[in-house]
Amino acid sequence: MKPSMPSPATPMTDQPLLGPPPPVLDPGSPAAFNESARALADAEITPNLAHWERQGSVSRSLFEAMGRAGVFGIGVAVEHGGLGLDLAHGISFVRAVMREPAAGVCTSLSVLTHLVAPLLARHGTPGQRDRWLRPVLAGRCVASVALTEPGGGSDLVRAVATTARPEPDGWLLQGEKTFITNAPLADVLLVLARTTPGTSALGLTLFLVPADLPGIVITPLATAGLHASPTGRVSFEDCRLPREAVLGRPGLAMVLLAGILPEERLAIAAGALACARWALERTARLLGASDQAMPELAWWDAEIEAAETFVDAAAERIGGPQDQLDAALAKTAGARLAQRVVQDCARLSGPGAYRDDEPAPAMLSALRDVRVLSVYGGSCETVRDTAAAELLRGALTPTQGPPTTTQATPTAP
Ligand SMILES: Cc1cc2nc3c(=O)[nH]c(=O)nc-3n(C[C@H](O)[C@H](O)[C@H](O)COP(=O)(O)OP(=O)(O)OC[C@H]3O[C@@H](n4cnc5c(N)ncnc54)[C@H](O)[C@@H]3O)c2cc1C
Repeated sequence: MKPSMPSPATPMTDQPLLGPPPPVLDPGSPAAFNESARALADAEITPNLAHWERQGSVSRSLFEAMGRAGVFGIGVAVEHGGLGLDLAHGISFVRAVMREPAAGVCTSLSVLTHLVAPLLARHGTPGQRDRWLRPVLAGRCVASVALTEPGGGSDLVRAVATTARPEPDGWLLQGEKTFITNAPLADVLLVLARTTPGTSALGLTLFLVPADLPGIVITPLATAGLHASPTGRVSFEDCRLPREAVLGRPGLAMVLLAGILPEERLAIAAGALACARWALERTARLLGASDQAMPELAWWDAEIEAAETFVDAAAERIGGPQDQLDAALAKTAGARLAQRVVQDCARLSGPGAYRDDEPAPAMLSALRDVRVLSVYGGSCETVRDTAAAELLRGALTPTQGPPTTTQATPTAP
């Protein structure tokens, strides 16, 4: 998608009579967008971050503020109520948020910005867009993507045991999902379920499931990182869904997911690298110019910059034949590099890095969060296997040029 005409983000609540209006994203130019994204993060996220980390969840007001500002419509076409911007803008927003160790906030927002909203815009019926996309864009509806199950999230085609049985008037949903971001706050869940028995990739379907449907139980999960991001387990006991709950077509879930997961993986890679950059800059300030560790930090700086450049290049060519390979390489390399950098920065920062009583999230939050970034969005090892398969395919192709397949198997977000 190319940048196009801005759609004014309509405020949902009355603006205060005094004081500046709440910040909104400015799609006028990349520089204006970046500046407005930073202003938005400074106004709505930074002041609340410590509180959300302590309470173990962002508040619904975050989604409302981000909806007002246009965040969930960054990658949604203007005719569907979004800003109609490309992935580079989505990544720019991630970097603006991650100028603080705010990976939990970023994770919760990304589910809507990089998964739910674009999936609804691209594959939703007019009725589904009216019912779900509009409130998601406005920040009135919190959404989750529920793919992972107790039996696994990497190999979804084999792991999904949740079933949706066809009934005369719709579907009967039965099963359990786990590690679902935003579930404790969710109004709607995008649920992956098996609609044809067996282990065929074409036996899986995505359903739009209202979270208050009879038969649904959502239980919060405590996690070792991303404290601001609410996570939960969801069980479905004889949930009756209407026919129109299917997103896309029955059996095509993996095709829809394969089309969107590269974008999410690039956003995760950008977030991981931003986390590394935050740790690096904080450590450099702490140590000072004359510290003997500064040359070591300079190496890390160069590696982060190279990885960021790769993410930017991959985002530029998203939608092309190399999507799966690009996203797999960026996700694996970005998350692993970030883990090494943050660990090293914590070591160089001394015992202060392990303090858990800082007034604002600091090195310990980054340390906790960075580990998770190599697990979700497909664990680094399984994403690495995707990259290896794509590389091999490219190497075995007799003609010159990049690999041409885009049909790698998706894993959970
Ligand atoms: C904080 C958090 C939020 C999440 N949010 C969501 C969400 O919103 N929606 C959702 O559907 N899921 C979500 N997940 C689940 C996540 O996507 C899965 O945990 C992830 O895809 C890994 O799947 P798995 O748990 O089945 O791990 P497994 O596939 O069981 O793998 C476990 C570990 O084994 C190792 N491994 C696996 N394969 C290989 C291999 N070939 N070689 C070497 N090592 C290997 C890896 O280290 C991997 O991390 C979330 C997870 C976390 C932790």
